[in-house]
Amino acid sequence: MRKPDIRKKRIGDQSVTFYRYNTVIVGAGAAGMNCAVHLYEFMKQKGVENPQDRIAVLTAGLGLGASRMSGSDKQTYYKIGTSPDVPDSAEEFAKSLTAAGCCHGDSALIEAIGSLREFYHLVQAGVPFPTDSMGTFIGYKTDNDPYERATSAGPKTSRFMSQCLQKQLERYGVEIHDEQELAHLLTWHGLPGREPITGKMPVPQRIIGVVTVDKKSADQTNHAINIFFGANIVLAAGGPGELYKTSVYPKGQLGIHGLAFKAGLTGANLTESQFGLASIKFRWNVSGTYMQAIPRIFSTDVEGKDEKEFLTGFFPSMSKMATDIFLKGYQWPFDPQRIENLQSSLIDVLVFNETQKGRRVYMDFLHNPTGSDSMDEFSIDDLEPEAKEYLQKAGALQKTPIERLAYMNTPAIEIYKENGIDLYSEPLEIAVCAQHNNGGFAVDKWWQSNIPQTFIIGEMAGTHGVKRPGGSALNAGQTGGLRATEYIVNVYGCELPDYSDKHSEIDRQLSDIITGFEQYKSSSGLDPEEILEEIRSRMTASGGHIRELNDAQKALKEAVKLYKGIQQKGFNSKDAKAFITAIQAEHLALASVAYLKAVVELLEQGSGSRGSHLVLTHDGIGIHPDVIDKATNKPLKFKPENQSLRNSILQIEYDESSPDLFKSRTIELRPTPTDRKAFEPAWMDYREGKIYNS
Ligand SMILES: Cc1cc2nc3c(=O)[nH]c(=O)nc-3n(C[C@H](O)[C@H](O)[C@H](O)COP(=O)(O)OP(=O)(O)OC[C@H]3O[C@@H](n4cnc5c(N)ncnc54)[C@H](O)[C@@H]3O)c2cc1C
Repeated sequence: MRKPDIRKKRIGDQSVTFYRYNTVIVGAGAAGMNCAVHLYEFMKQKGVENPQDRIAVLTAGLGLGASRMSGSDKQTYYKIGTSPDVPDSAEEFAKSLTAAGCCHGDSALIEAIGSLREFYHLVQAGVPFPTDSMGTFIGYKTDNDPYERATSAGPKTSRFMSQCLQKQLERYGVEIHDEQELAHLLTWHGLPGREPITGKMPVPQRIIGVVTVDKKSADQTNHAINIFFGANIVLAAGGPGELYKTSVYPKGQLGIHGLAFKAGLTGANLTESQFGLASIKFRWNVSGTYMQAIPRIFSTDVEGKDEKEFLTGFFPSMSKMATDIFLKGYQWPFDPQRIENLQSSLIDVLVFNETQKGRRVYMDFLHNPTGSDSMDEFSIDDLEPEAKEYLQKAGALQKTPIERLAYMNTPAIEIYKENGIDLYSEPLEIAVCAQHNNGGFAVDKWWQSNIPQTFIIGEMAGTHGVKRPGGSALNAGQTGGLRATEYIVNVYGCELPDYSDKHSEIDRQLSDIITGFEQYKSSSGLDPEEILEEIRSRMTASGGHIRELNDAQKALKEAVKLYKGIQQKGFNSKDAKAFITAIQAEHLALASVAYLKAVVELLEQGSGSRGSHLVLTHDGIGIHPDVIDKATNKPLKFKPENQSLRNSILQIEYDESSPDLFKSRTIELRPTPTDRKAFEPAWMDYREGKIYNS
């Protein structure tokens, strides 16, 4: 029977509940769940008694987060190739991860080496990755993937991952604390920490615990505050989805970036978010077979009238236009290096251009693309070889897109049906949406952050570079959890922490939080929903897939002003729900400052268009006279990538005294290790625990 270590104490007018664990994991997505499973297993293998009592998983909602709620036609898991006849290696895999720059070589190699171990861990947990009759896990090609390393358990791969891992945790008896909204990370500045960027802000020696508000019972008077102390803290709270207005992140996916910055964690590569085409009524990526089925893409006015084949004017032939639509399947993220010469990301630009005119864009699966008078009729035979051969090989030669989609991937139709959209009878509204952050927080090769004993995994960890192969996010999330837990168990141990000598500092921080919550009930305070809306609109307009220096600088100033305004005025939250929204709005406001600061810094370094964003400049490359820059009403021109920046990573740290609230620096990339030891000395290093020192 479980014996949780729980205490209660009154601080101010609040009753606060304290829990104590060896490791507290924030986030119950695929990354957090996997981390908890590994931790339990490692502890058990070490002979630790009742590991389940030493681990806690916290989440704002078990049903929330990208893993639970997001996907695509066949959501991809990227791993080392498992084809019986195509050789692959970890070094080659790492090269694919680092190819477009700004990615550390050591973590890329580790993600490669760990990929099969983690993939089979998921298979053992019950994730239904398909095999053939010989047991081969069959691969396919995904974006930025030169091999066929991708596999999928269908549209809901990441949901299956987190569900299967949750079942395993339940079998192990590990407690998942549901409906815990994160409000603060408790820090301890006992000894000097690592060197901060500015030399002014002391970096905390430790994050010793996590403060949450229990959404099940919190209201404006009883804040239902829980404290989860941990010797080790693992942050797996996902990407900052709610930062953007036009977004395919699931609703309610906040992340905890603002709180993490405030606690002293270092951000890395924050500028490298991914954007791409997604449906907006039900938030879902329209990658893979949705595009490979080659639907007609058209626009209407706001009321759904005045249908227009808006793509046709930009393409010389039906063959080129239809092939580009097809290629969007596995060239899914918007990529500024795939615009010129009629490449597939021209489609994203044109969709965006159309929505900027106030029109709505749809995919119609009942009809093939419709051309202009000067174009031939759609025919699969006329497609360019890559598209034609793919469809021939897949046997997808049916007459209409819906038939081809149904033939290639029925679950891709069913997922919309489950969410109230019938692709057999209605078109699908789409937009260019924020989808993923390749950046996040800096970690070392054990996924330890700049603060010892705090680890960061999953989408919160900024291990990806400028581009990443589709599916590598899920792999990185699993590998990171494996590495963090191995380090925790073998270096920091499995004991519960003793913070009895830190009571006065802990009480001080808690009193500050409770006083801060009082400010959430100010009649002259700000409306938290309106603040969230303001943040999202600004981020989509100025920190999204189209960026321009003057505009970003202005947006940064506004974001700083907003955050400072929140500090001064507080919120006017009228009920329990608004109280939670106020907590979220405060830290999301700080996160938006961090992201915009990174955008401005990179632009000031002379960066150009790279990854998944376009940098505008008056003397850049034009796309087409009809593709207009909304700000200037002139043809949109973009700056090509500044490749000299590929060998560095932009880092960001919170600094209250700085005018922008953040300071930045640029660091060099860690190389991909090439030293290989013979078995015997490597075995000795392993036995003696030296592998954790190097
Ligand atoms: C539409 C879409 C399609 C995608 N397709 C792919 C794909 O094909 N392949 C691929 O590799 N990746 C894909 N991704 C990315 C991938 O799904 C995510 O990066 C990954 O699932 C993130 O997992 P995670 O465990 O790090 O975070 P999440 O799954 O997002 O989980 C975050 C957890 O933290 C909790 N949390 C968040 N904020 C708070 C808070 N403030 N307080 C308390 N708890 C909080 C959440 O409730 C949740 O439990 C896709 C993403 C989207 C949006």
